[in-house]
Amino acid sequence: MRLLVIEDECDLCEDIAKKLRLSGYEADTCVDGEAALELLAVEKYDLVLLDLMLPGLDGTALCRRIREQSRVPIIMLTAKGETADRVSGLEMGADDYIVKPFGVSEMLARVRTTLRRSDRLRLSQGSQKD
Ligand code: CA
Repeated sequence: MRLLVIEDECDLCEDIAKKLRLSGYEADTCVDGEAALELLAVEKYDLVLLDLMLPGLDGTALCRRIREQSRVPIIMLTAKGETADRVSGLEMGADDYIVKPFGVSEMLARVRTTLRRSDRLRLSQGSQKD
C-alpha cells in the first residue's frame, strides 16, 4: 500500500510518514497542493492524507481537484473548530477526516478502515483488485 501525505508543516508531515512506514506502508510526502496534483497525475496511490489548512490551494479545493481526476480514498486532517470546512471537505469527496491533534493509533485505525472500505467498493464494482 502506498500513501501520500499532504501537509505544509514539514515536521508533522515527516512524522506522519514515518509512523506510516513503521506500520508497513509506503509513504510519500508533499508540502503543497500544486505539487501534490502533479504527483497524483503520475504516481499511483492507495490513499491520500490531506491537510485542510494549506497555503495556496487549500485542502478543500485540492480535494475537489483530486476528485476530478481520481477516486483515490482521501482522509482529511483538520484542526478543532473547523467543522464547516470539514463538512465541505466531505462534500468535496473526502472519505473520512481526522481531527488534530491525533494519536498514531487513531490515524492507523482510520487508514485501515478507509482502505478496507475502498477495497470492498472496488470489488463490488467488479474492477480488478490492485
Ligand atoms: Ca497545515
